[in-house]
Amino acid sequence: MSLPRQSDLICFLIAAGIILATSTGLAQTSAPASSEASRTFKLIPSLDKELMDTAADPCVDFYRYACGNWSKLHPIPNDSPYSDQFYNLEQYNRQVLHEILDSAAAGGGGRDSNTQKIGDYYASCMDEASIQQKATAPLQPELDRINALTSKDQLPELLAHFQLINVNAFLGFGSQQDFKDATREIAAVSQGGLGLPEKDYYLRTGEKDEEIRKQYVQHIGNILKLLGASDAQTSSDSQAIMKLETALAKVSLDVTSQRDPHNIYHLMPDSGLQALTPVLNWERFYSSTGSPEFKEINVAEPEFFKGLNQVIAGTDLATIKMYLRWQLVESVPGTVLPKALDEENFDFNGRKLAGTPELEPRWKRCVASTDGAMGEALGKAYVEQQFPASSKENSLRMIHEIEAALGRDIDSLDWMSAETKKRAEEKLHWIADKVGYPSKWRDYSRLTIERGDALGNSFHAAEFESHRQLAKIGKPVNRDEWEMSPPTVNAYYSTSMNDINFPAGVLQSPFFATLSADALNYGHIGLFMGHELTHGFDDEGRQFDGHGNLDDWWTKDDAEKFTEKADCFVHEYGQFSVGDTKLNGKLTLGENAADNGGMRLAYMAFLARAAEESLNLDKKTRTGYTPLQEVFVGFAQDWCAVWRPELERLIATTDPHSPDRFRANGVLVNMPEFAKAFGCKAGQPMVAVKACRVW
Ligand SMILES: [Zn+2]
Repeated sequence: MSLPRQSDLICFLIAAGIILATSTGLAQTSAPASSEASRTFKLIPSLDKELMDTAADPCVDFYRYACGNWSKLHPIPNDSPYSDQFYNLEQYNRQVLHEILDSAAAGGGGRDSNTQKIGDYYASCMDEASIQQKATAPLQPELDRINALTSKDQLPELLAHFQLINVNAFLGFGSQQDFKDATREIAAVSQGGLGLPEKDYYLRTGEKDEEIRKQYVQHIGNILKLLGASDAQTSSDSQAIMKLETALAKVSLDVTSQRDPHNIYHLMPDSGLQALTPVLNWERFYSSTGSPEFKEINVAEPEFFKGLNQVIAGTDLATIKMYLRWQLVESVPGTVLPKALDEENFDFNGRKLAGTPELEPRWKRCVASTDGAMGEALGKAYVEQQFPASSKENSLRMIHEIEAALGRDIDSLDWMSAETKKRAEEKLHWIADKVGYPSKWRDYSRLTIERGDALGNSFHAAEFESHRQLAKIGKPVNRDEWEMSPPTVNAYYSTSMNDINFPAGVLQSPFFATLSADALNYGHIGLFMGHELTHGFDDEGRQFDGHGNLDDWWTKDDAEKFTEKADCFVHEYGQFSVGDTKLNGKLTLGENAADNGGMRLAYMAFLARAAEESLNLDKKTRTGYTPLQEVFVGFAQDWCAVWRPELERLIATTDPHSPDRFRANGVLVNMPEFAKAFGCKAGQPMVAVKACRVW
């Protein structure tokens, strides 16, 4: 459960697990897999012909051509809201981690302290009988803290404590890199406190949204009842909580506006926050979290904190206490709660919001929560077993090739002035490449894990992480740090660090093969590398310079041209829809720009490599495709997927990534190189009338 860093701008390759995972659940145990043959999820080859529907016309719908059989061969499991290549690889990794954790949990002497801790954490999470038998007793001390409140004046201490144990009560507090001085870590507060995925869920009109809100209020009521409230009470209490959250939603900044760094950067003296939200004594709040002292704080969304003052001042204490009880339970991982609460959480967040029929087996959820709690301890064992040195060398070589391609690309742009080009090249030069795992592993010696105390362990891990983040305030930035654990199947670019990060987990088949001269490799992982690099130059990333500082390095004329070119993507992707929901072209702009730019870079890098190795580009390889065709088939197969409609709607309304199927065709229609490779002609659906291109 790593605490999200306040207001950091981190651009992921795909939606982070927090949205996709069905984070709560019931028990089912399974025998551990012990070898490749017994693993249910297998690595998929870099070109899987069985996935293809070769009867489909590649110039009409290339996604169908490359991925037409995905849903037949990899149907959505009952315990998932979707099935795609990332999901498959993530499940594969969970099997590997499962084996590591089973062995760590088996005990015995000679285990180092990290092995003991991950083993105990996992074993406690798996001990369903004990969790069930204790019922809500482990939560009682937290419920008592809420019960003990006799005045709103006592809120700062309680909210500070809830902040440390990761309860989503009203707001978030932590550290972040200063947008305008990337060498330093500053304190930051940000909006929070909502139980639905995004502010619009509270405010949008329409049958579907009204239905979700009705179910949500019902869900709140069910949780309160399970905590012992009477039937008579719960109806009015759950309505009052909904009213409170709706008031918070109204003053929250929407997801699209959050993508502009200027909208979430308001550095002020700490007295500034006190003036915005006088109802809370912030000095007492900070000192109760144990944070170092500071003089300035980034109030990410000042309007929210102004509104929060009215919400707290205008709500009676009894309702606030009820809201805190509700958020406490909603914030705790379902695995450490008794069955009835776990099932109720899943019913709303998994079943109703994401459309998933069944909970994941307990072992899967416990593997995921151990990874969340001690990702670098588990990740170290994972890397030793799963990530050969050759993978690191080969992927670094490819990254350098893709960076060189970006250099040539910038150089060749006809719309950018020499002045801006020089700054863009400087920024490219400063990008740090991080591959596999951190150079220095996190020290968990101060984290206490006790076998048999599942809920306590979860709180301790959250507190450990909160203190680790808060301790950074006022210190210089540590550039070695990772925001993802090594087994994660994802990647990211950080605007303030100006670095790209590829965890070991994603550097496997089908995305990455050790033979990097393979054209398929460029379509797969080459695209991911190009994607993350391009984030440094998308609508958000371009506002930061090579040192990670928010600083406008563009000439006015070039910035205008950039916006005009980027608008082409806003329009293109805004035409796609899932069910009756249109994609938000502005929310997804950065990701779509990164996909388009990334694919071009991967293609350019492959051409350079092919020239270096004198590859015959006209000759079909053993796959039956020419190397240039392979680049595009590999790319399209990255996005083979089938999603439940509920999840598609959830992602389309809250996530900056377009659903997988649009990520393939949305890019290819813009590339004449693709049309040429497959003989597509103007006027066919896979050839855009007006091709979009920025980079
Ligand atoms: Zn991205």
